[in-house]
Amino acid sequence: VLCFSQDFDFFYFVQQWPGSYCDTQRSCCYPTTGKPSADFGIHGLWPNYKDVSYPSNCDTNNPFQPSQISDLISSLERNWPTLACPSGNGIQFWTHEWEKHGTCSESIVSRQHDYFEAALILKQRANLLQALISAGIQPDGGSYSLSSINAAIKGATGYTPFIQCNVDSTSNSQLYQVYLCVNTNGSDFIECPVFPSGKCGSKIEFPSF
Ligand code: 5GP
Ligand code: 5GP
Ligand code: 5GP
Repeated sequence: VLCFSQDFDFFYFVQQWPGSYCDTQRSCCYPTTGKPSADFGIHGLWPNYKDVSYPSNCDTNNPFQPSQISDLISSLERNWPTLACPSGNGIQFWTHEWEKHGTCSESIVSRQHDYFEAALILKQRANLLQALISAGIQPDGGSYSLSSINAAIKGATGYTPFIQCNVDSTSNSQLYQVYLCVNTNGSDFIECPVFPSGKCGSKIEFPSF
């Protein structure tokens, strides 16, 4: 008997550019494990519905347990670093992501270990920074067209991303997060059934980190 039947249609796999999280008015705090490398970091793997709504906090009986993912911690520190203040070691961020989003995937991705492992594999597979650099789009503070960023990621991954911008401390629009869609198994990218809302300028900055 399924005691847990919260279903969903697909995942958003969301990665953040640390330079764009940190150069805002709010600034950021490096993790206690040290400054992350200049690469995209995972923000989350979020169950979503095709009508743009999404479930959250689906199972309070399955709290995050670091002991279940002890073999993944060092990879999570490198690939899913926390930049919020005050500085943390990541556990708070991963706890939040598991409890808010991960628990809504339980009917399909049954264990927290599988959930975090799926995200780590997806990040490696997408290799966003390499896709952008190969297309001449470098995190050098330069301005790039949104269409060239989309094309570079589509060219490398095969799938159309959604680019989310934020603004730096002087109000420049910049590349903040990249959304890709993933099937409900967490195993493969798919074309997004629906995109989030939000707009970038046609020219956006890619700040260094
Ligand atoms: P923000 O408002 O900063 O974009 O998002 C705040 C939080 O809401 C995110 O960290 C995430 O937990 C959740 N969220 C925002 N947009 C979406 C979405 O389109 N799908 C899902 N599943 N969660 C979202
Ligand atoms: P969301 O609810 O949007 O999925 O997750 C955002 C929450 O995780 C916020 O409460 C934020 O403070 C916390 N958090 C911790 N580290 C980070 C980080 O590096 N990036 C983002 N976006 N949120 C973080
Ligand atoms: P939350 O309340 O979910 O922690 O975060 C709300 C929003 O503020 C999210 O969009 C998150 O990315 C942003 N945020 C939270 N903490 C920080 C921080 O320390 N620095 C920056 N730049 N943004 C933050």
